[in-house]
Order: sequence, then C-alpha cells, then structure tokens
Amino acid sequence: MKMLIDGCEVDASNGRTIDVTCPVNGSLVGTIPAATEQDMEKALAASVKGQKAWQAIPLREKEQILDRFEELLEENKKEILTVVCKESGSSLRNGLMQIQGLPQLFRGYLETAKRYNGHLMVPGIEAGHDGKTENDMQLVTYEPVGTVLAIVPFNASIMLFAYKAAPALAAGNAVIVKPPTTNPLAVIMICKLLWQAGVPGSTLQVITGNGGEIGDYLSKDPRINAVTLTGSTEVGVHIAEIMAKKLSPCALELGGNDPFIIMEDADLQAAIADGAFWRMNSAGQICISPKRFIVHNSLKEAFTQGVLEFTKTIHMGYDMDYDAEVEKFLNLDFSKMAHAGMIMNPLISERAAKTVEEQIQKTAAQGAKILTGGRRNGCFIEPTVLGDVTRDMDIMKDMEIFGPVLPICGFDTEEEALEIANQSSYGLSGCVWTKDWKKGMRMARAIQSGGVVINGTGTYRNMMHPFGGYKHSGMGREGFMTLGEMMQEKVIIMKDFY
Ligand code: NAD
Repeated sequence: MKMLIDGCEVDASNGRTIDVTCPVNGSLVGTIPAATEQDMEKALAASVKGQKAWQAIPLREKEQILDRFEELLEENKKEILTVVCKESGSSLRNGLMQIQGLPQLFRGYLETAKRYNGHLMVPGIEAGHDGKTENDMQLVTYEPVGTVLAIVPFNASIMLFAYKAAPALAAGNAVIVKPPTTNPLAVIMICKLLWQAGVPGSTLQVITGNGGEIGDYLSKDPRINAVTLTGSTEVGVHIAEIMAKKLSPCALELGGNDPFIIMEDADLQAAIADGAFWRMNSAGQICISPKRFIVHNSLKEAFTQGVLEFTKTIHMGYDMDYDAEVEKFLNLDFSKMAHAGMIMNPLISERAAKTVEEQIQKTAAQGAKILTGGRRNGCFIEPTVLGDVTRDMDIMKDMEIFGPVLPICGFDTEEEALEIANQSSYGLSGCVWTKDWKKGMRMARAIQSGGVVINGTGTYRNMMHPFGGYKHSGMGREGFMTLGEMMQEKVIIMKDFY
C-alpha cells in the first residue's frame, strides 16, 4: 500500500519499504513506504492548502460526504475487516466492533461541531480600560487550529484513528495521520474511502514509516499546529516536550494500570464474568482493560476459582484463518456475542509477547504464583492468572502489562483498597464492585483516574463523555470537548457598532 499525499498514492521518494506481517503466522500482509523528509515536506506544504479547501466546503456538503463514506464502508467492509485482523492479529469480533463504530464517530463529531457557534457579548459589561464599550459589538468566535498531526497506536487502530481524525476534521482542520508502523494498512484504506467520499486529498493525508523519525520531524515543524497522540507514556512525554517548545497544543491518551476493585458485598459472578473477559479480550492489549484485580480477602478464593474456570473456555487462535471465518462475522452485532468461548489472539509482535513473558517472570520472581498460563508461543501468550500478588510488587504499581495477565491482590479495608488503587502513577480508568451505591460513589470519587465505573468494568467509552487520564495517563480529553481543543477562540470587536 502507498502513502496518501496531496491527493496521490505515493511510494517513498527513495523507494524504501517496511513489511507488514500477520502476528498469527508471520505471513506477509503488505508493505508500506518508509517516508523520507522530502515526502513529509510535500505533505506539510499540501496541508496548508488542505485547510482552505476543507473550510470552503459547506457543512451540508460535509454531511453528504459522510453519507457517501458510510456507503463505501459498507461496500468494503469485508476487505477492511480481513485486513484489520490480519495485520494486527485482532479477533474478528474486535475488528468488527471497530468498523461498526466508525460512521457514528464521524457523524457524532460533525453534529457536535454545529453547536460551536460562538457568542455575542452583552455590550458595556466591562470596560477595563479608558473609553466606553456600550456601543461596541463583541463577538467570540472559534477557528480551526490549522493542521493536526494524528499519531495512532497499534491497538484498535481504526477506531482510535477515528477518535482523532473525526473531531479534527469536524473542527475544520487539515489532518496528517501517522498510523502505527506494525499495522497501518486498514487506516490507509479508511482514509482512501474518505477521499473517495469527497474529503480533499490535501486535507487528509497519511505518512507511513518509522514512528520516531516521522513523529519527531512532523511535530517539530511549525506547520503542525496541534498533535493528538494515543500511545505509551514514554512517547507521549517526548511529544509533549517538543510541542511545549513551540507553545502548541497537544492532547495525549497514554498508558494505564487500571484497578478492578471487588468489595465484600459485590455481585461476584457478574464481576468474574466482566473482569475475566475484559482482561483477556484483545489479548489484554486495551488501554482501559482492567489490569490490577484488588479483591476483598473474603472473596479472593471464589474470585480466583471463577476466573480460572473462565480461562478454560478460551481457545488459543494459533490456526486462525481470517479468510475462511470473515463471512460469518460480517452481519453480526458484536455487542450480542457471548464472552465465554472467546478466541485468544496473538500480541502485535513477538517483541511485545517477549516483554509480557518477561513481566510475568519478573512478577513470579517477586513472589507471585502462576496459577495458569504464563507461557509464550511466538506472538501468543497463554491466558495467565497470578495469585499471591502483594501490593508492593511492580505489577500493582507502574508496570503496565499489555497482555492477557490477570493478577489478584487481596485487601481487608476500603481504605487499603483505595491506597492500592491510587499507588500507581497511572490514572486512566478503573472500577469498583459493590451493592452499596453510596460506598460505590464514595470510592469512585476517591479513585484517582479519568473515569470510574461502578458495577461494570472500566473498559467504557463513548464520544459524548470526556475520556482521558489523570497523572501519567495523559493530558487533555477526547470526547465532544476535543473540538474545543482543536479550535482556538478569537474575539472580534466592532467599535461603535450600535
Ligand atoms: P507507542 O507509544 O509505541 O506508539 C504509539 C504511536 O506513536 C505509534 O504510531 C508509533 O509509531 C508512534 N511513535 C513511536 N515513537 C514516536 C516518537 N518518538 N514520536 C512520535 N511518534 C512516535 O504505543 P503503542 O505500543 O502503539 O500502544 C500501546 C500503548 O498505548 C500502551 O501504553 C497503551 O496503554 C496506550 N494506549 C492508550 C490509550 C488511551 O486512550 N489512553 C489507547 C490505546 C493505547
């Protein structure tokens, strides 16, 4: 596949490419260009005219573009679903979930943009300086920031792309997308459909290649007016430093180590079903999947047995054949699929799987007991449950495991549960299970994270609420307010108008 620059599909100027392989079996899925500085310069120059081209299109025409995009997505669903799964090793269920959500996200943001109307100030409110203001008209307006660089992580690549591109476009900006290096193909396919639907080729562009090289070059350029990045805390801090030097905005959605707290009065069976599934789903590669299970000591044994039973229903997807299976999924509603009997997909790469394997071994060396799983096979990690976990272990603090590993740590008092939950430097999401709503609300308010779910897993997101992290889990929020972050406010004053 090629890059999308200024309306053309192009190779790198020096012809260099990077292979994209399937983590299930290592087969080649495609190649992408490794962009050069010359390629990036072309995209940056085009994006300036892309801003004007996009702003000249009236809103009603943008709505028609989205109608057409939805039709094209439906026509190409099978091909996109196959590619998104092959290039990332994702389960078909998760691939489908991402595709089904795309039109809603693009429409939702465009609808929300209609409500950013600016406002007229009451005359004569506050002079603040010599002279009268009673006869002045003061208008507060919103303008797009210009060009937004959208840096997308490997997990849920097309959904997380949409959470960036949809608000940036709805706010009237041009967008340059840097898809994940490991699995960029489906993002490129979606952008091509948006071009086909009518988004100008200079407004939405895709640059592929090495994350560090591209990310640094583009974010340092003055023609990039804002960056929105989802990824690791390490890369997020690096980008924040670059943007701080330019005094330009950046929004960061970063890592997490979310607590899953089970109080003594919880609905244990519901907590087992939800917690075990969401920790194992997508092989644990979800930023807001529960990662630290903090369980009241009176329920610890029953909870442990429950999740061990769940892991027995999981099938390892070693022989996954996406081409053969894809038809079965095309018209399913993912939200109605059963949790038990899930397929365990591989991690994104062998390197990622080796990291998780090492993290399991490190936790075992610190005293945890591997109750099931713990082994790696290529890019796959077996569903792993860790017992005898104590609050002083790295896994219960800042070691984010992006893999199917479920550690269980006991506690006796509410205060202790909250101390363990808050001892991490991350603060993305979390949850607490209790039949006492007052206790649930008290604890939700005390947990230091951007979101807390009571009696459900913290893997909960929709575009109308603010989504993002406390502490090292990010900066800024994604949701309807992202539009505000991708626009700037201006006051226009007409002197002696009245
Ligand atoms: P990553 O930080 O390695 O990569 C993210 C993106 O940044 C990729 O496109 C990568 O190519 C690019 N990149 C890498 N180095 C860069 C640099 N120096 N400058 C600019 N861009 C650079 O993260 P990942 O492995 O793709 O994703 C996993 C991480 O993302 C986990 O920590 C996970 O918790 C987090 N995540 C957070 C959220 C959220 O909403 N908070 C959602 C998904 C994933």
